[in-house]
Amino acid sequence: MQLLIATSNPGKLREYRILLAGAPVEILSLHDVGLGAMDVVETGKTFEANARLKAEAYAQASGMTALADDTGLVVDALNGAPGVYSARYGGAALTMADRRAKILAELDGLPDDERTARFVCVIALTTPNGETFTVEGVCDGRIAREDRGGASGFGYDAIFIPDGFDVTWSQVSLDDKNRVSHRGAAARAILPILTRLAAES
Ligand code: IMP
Repeated sequence: MQLLIATSNPGKLREYRILLAGAPVEILSLHDVGLGAMDVVETGKTFEANARLKAEAYAQASGMTALADDTGLVVDALNGAPGVYSARYGGAALTMADRRAKILAELDGLPDDERTARFVCVIALTTPNGETFTVEGVCDGRIAREDRGGASGFGYDAIFIPDGFDVTWSQVSLDDKNRVSHRGAAARAILPILTRLAAES
């Protein structure tokens, strides 16, 4: 079975290629199927709604089974912000480095126990006939005191310290990130569904 990973984010695509390496599917990117320029506006108010919007639109456009995720950083001291607005927090003109700086400024001076946060990832998987499955993965942690980039990572990785680590996700190996991350948990939950769909195809 061919599986379209419906993301234009190279960081997500890299993670899914590893996370789904054991699945009985051939992984294709939007670029591979000529849909690299297609955009889906995320009008939903929940992670699940936005993940569904993306998976359904790309499954329909490609005629293939499509997997999309919607992910966000939920910061307790900011009443759950940026949440579903993580990709555009502070406005479209900001870079991801600006967005990380905005969150660090908003938490300025708060001790570690008031810097708690979590990443939430909802995966939606839509079949060519329009049936959709959703699963969720969560990773708890805290916001670092400063931007701590490293050799890898994307988005908010450089300010997120997952529980059980002293470093940000930009500073750990991709294997370590995948083992404990929101996306890793969601990918492990979707694997049995993917395996069943592949067996039925
Ligand atoms: P979306 O799910 O593509 O809408 O992503 C929402 C925002 O969260 C974007 O700004 C991404 O860069 C960021 N993001 C998504 N996944 C991760 C991750 O695993 N680590 C850090 N940031 C992420």
